[in-house]
Amino acid sequence: MSAQEYLRLGDDESRPITPQSEPPPWRVLIVDDDEQVHLVTRYALRGQRILGRRIEFDSAYSAEEARMRLAERRYSLILLDVVMETEDAGLKLVGEIRERFDDPAVRIVLRTGQPGLAPELQVIQNYDINDYRSKSELTTERLVTSLTAALRSYQQICQMEEHRRRLERVLSASAELLRIQGIEALAERVLIQLCSILEVPPCGLLCVRRSGEEALEVLAALGPDAARPPEEVLNPARSARMRAALEAKRDEFGEDHVCLYLETPRLPQFVADIPVPMRVSGLTQRLLSLYAINVMVGLDNAQLFEELEQSAYVDPLTGLATRLALERALRERIARGEPFELLFADIDNFQAVNDGLGYEAGDHTLRAIVAVLKQSFPEALVIARLSADTFALVLPSAAATDAGLSRLNARLRGNLEVMGHRVPIGMSFGSACHPEDGGDAATILRHAGIALKQAKRGFRGSHQRFDRRYEDELERRLSLVGELRSALAEERFTLVYQPQWRLADGVLVGVEALLRWQRSPGDWVSAAEFITAAEDSGQIIPVGAFVLERACAEQRVLAQAGFDVPVSVNLSVRQLQDPGFLRMVEEALRKTGLPPERLELEVTESMLIGGEGPMDLIRELRRRGVRVAVDDFGTGHSSLARLRELPADRLKIDRAFVVELDLRREARVICELVVKLGHALGLRVVAEGVERATQDALLRELGCDEVQGFFYGRPVPLTELLASLRR
Ligand code: C2E
Ligand code: MG
Ligand code: MG
Repeated sequence: MSAQEYLRLGDDESRPITPQSEPPPWRVLIVDDDEQVHLVTRYALRGQRILGRRIEFDSAYSAEEARMRLAERRYSLILLDVVMETEDAGLKLVGEIRERFDDPAVRIVLRTGQPGLAPELQVIQNYDINDYRSKSELTTERLVTSLTAALRSYQQICQMEEHRRRLERVLSASAELLRIQGIEALAERVLIQLCSILEVPPCGLLCVRRSGEEALEVLAALGPDAARPPEEVLNPARSARMRAALEAKRDEFGEDHVCLYLETPRLPQFVADIPVPMRVSGLTQRLLSLYAINVMVGLDNAQLFEELEQSAYVDPLTGLATRLALERALRERIARGEPFELLFADIDNFQAVNDGLGYEAGDHTLRAIVAVLKQSFPEALVIARLSADTFALVLPSAAATDAGLSRLNARLRGNLEVMGHRVPIGMSFGSACHPEDGGDAATILRHAGIALKQAKRGFRGSHQRFDRRYEDELERRLSLVGELRSALAEERFTLVYQPQWRLADGVLVGVEALLRWQRSPGDWVSAAEFITAAEDSGQIIPVGAFVLERACAEQRVLAQAGFDVPVSVNLSVRQLQDPGFLRMVEEALRKTGLPPERLELEVTESMLIGGEGPMDLIRELRRRGVRVAVDDFGTGHSSLARLRELPADRLKIDRAFVVELDLRREARVICELVVKLGHALGLRVVAEGVERATQDALLRELGCDEVQGFFYGRPVPLTELLASLRR
C-alpha cells in the first residue's frame, strides 16, 4: 500500500480506540458586532446535536476580539460577520485564520446583512470558506443544514489529517528502525512503535522463534508484561495464539488483543502480542500491515548486524571468543568489580608443526589443544583465541589457574593425538591478575603478554606471573632499541677479533669477529647484552650487514699483513629468514674482493632445525665456497639424522662444557663425545672459552683440533690484533 493509496482510503469505518463515552462537543465561534445575532444563533441551536455531538459556543463581538479567541483555542467552525470594524473586517480575518493561525481545518461560514457588498460567488472562490449566508437565513432549519455540511467537511479534513499523521508515524518509524543495532533494542523499539500506531501506551510482547526451535523466546516486553515473570507473561493461551499466528503467517485481531505476525525474508520469525481495549478498526489494521512490511526490512537488517557481530566475536576455526570478545568480557568484569586472572597460553614451535605436517594437521592440532584447554580449565569464564597459536583464558582466581595448569601439563605429557600422529606439544604461559596487576583491560592484556614473553624467553613450557620487574626490563630493552638505531647511524659499532689456534702446531687458523657497541667514550657494550634486543626489533638485519661487510674488509687488511686466515662472522636466525640475505653476502664479498673460502659463517644448531629454508640457504652458501661453523654445539637439540646432513666445516664446543671440563667428569665426557662425533662426521672441532692451562691440556688429550679463548687471547680491535700477531 503506497502513501497515496492510503490517503485515498477516505472515510473509513474507523472508530477511536478509546472506549466511547460522550464525544467531545463541536466548538463554534460566533463573530458578529450585533449582539442580537449571537442570541438568535444560540437560541436556534440550543440542545441540538450535529453528527452526534453537542455544540459549544464562544462569542466575539469584533474581528479584534475574534483574534484573541483564535489565539486561545482551536474551533471546528466559525460563523463570521463580514462588516464589523470595517466593511471587510470579516473577509480580512479569513485570510489571517488560514495563514497567521495556520488552521486549514476550521470551517468558516460567512454571514452578512448586506449581501450586495461582497458578491457570493466571488467571496467563496477568493476566500477559503465553506458557505456564505445572509443573516436573514438564521432559522433553526437553515442553520442546522449549514452547520452540518460545514462540520462534516471539518470532520473529514481532520480524519485525513489524522491518517496522514499516523501514516507519517509509520513511515518515519521504519526509517528509525534502520538506525538501531542489536536485535533486542530493535525489538523493543518495534513494540513501542506498534503501540503508538495502535494508540495505546507501550505494552505487550515481541517474541522470536529461531529456526529449528519450538519455543518462543521473548525479545521485548513492555508495560505490565515487563513487570511480570516470563512464564506468566507467555501463558499457554497467549503462547498458543502467537504460535498460531506464526504457523498461519497471519495477523489476528481479537476483542482485547492484537497478534501480529512479522515476516522477515529469512528465518527466524517474529510475532508481537499487544493488549488493546477493543477490537481495532480496519484502518488501524491496514496501518499495521503497512508497518509490518516496513519493519521486516529493519528486522532483517538487525539480524545482519547480529551476524556481523557474531563473526567479529567468534573465531571461526575453533568457535572460541575473539580478542574483541575477550576485551569486552574483561571490561564487563572490571566494571562489576570482579577479580580474575588472565592467562595467556602459547604453543611452542607451532610453526614447525604447520611446516612439518601441513596446514590441515595444524588446524587439527589447534582444535585438539582447544579441547585440552576446555577439559583442563572447567572454571574458565572465557577462552579466547588471540592469534594463530595463542589463547587467552579468564579464570576466577590464581588457584583456578594453578589447578588448571597442572591438569593441562599432565595431559600434554602424553603427547597429542593428531590425525594418527603423536605430536609432542609444549606450551608457555604468562598471566596477570586484576586488580593487582592492572585496573583496566588494556593494561592487564599488556602485562599478561609481557609475562608470556618472559616465560618464552627463559624457561619454555613454564608459567610466569607478571612481575613489575619484567616491565622495567621491557622498558630498558625498548630504550635500548632506540639507542641501537642511532648507534648504527652514528657508526658507534666496531668489531673486535679473537684468534683461533691449531692445538697440534700452534698455527693461527682463523679469527672470530665479535661485535662491540661504544655506547659512550670508554663504555663498550658486549654483543651478549644487546643482540637479543636487535633481533627482537629487526635491527639485526642492518647491523648484521654492517658486521659482515666490515669483517670482510678487515680480513683483507689482515691478509695483506701476512695473516690470510678465514674470518668467522656470527649469524642470527633472523638474518637467515631475511629474503635479501644471500644477495647481501654476495655483495659484501664482491665489494671487498674477499674470496668466499676466507669467510666462515657461524650458525647454531637451533637455526638449522627450523625447517628446510635455512638449511637450503646454508647449503647454497657452501656450494659457493663459503665455510660454515656450528656454534655453541651441544646446547641445541639436533637429532643424529639431522647432524649427518649438517652442511658444515667445523663444530664449536659450547663454552659451557669447556668451562667445566677440568672440574666435572660429565663435562669431560660430553667434550669427548663432541670431538668424536665431529670427527665421525668429517668436521674439525673447535673448543671455545678456554681460560686455563688445565683445560688446554685436557683438550689436547681428547684430540680437539682447535682452540679459542682468553687463555690464548682476548677479543681485540684489528690494530691490536695485528700488533700482537706480529709479536
Ligand atoms: P659466541 O659466538 O659464542 O662468541 C663467543 C663469546 O665468548 C664472545 O662473547 C667472546 O668474547 C666470549 N669469549 C671468548 N673467549 C672467552 C673466554 O675464554 N672466557 C669467557 N668467559 N668468554 C669468552 P661476546 O663477544 O660477548 O659475544 C656473545 C655472543 O653474541 C656470541 O657468542 C654471539 O652469539 C653473539 N654475537 C657476537 N657478535 C655477533 C655478531 O656480529 N652478530 C651476531 N648475530 N651475533 C653476535
Ligand atoms: Mg660465535
Ligand atoms: Mg659460541
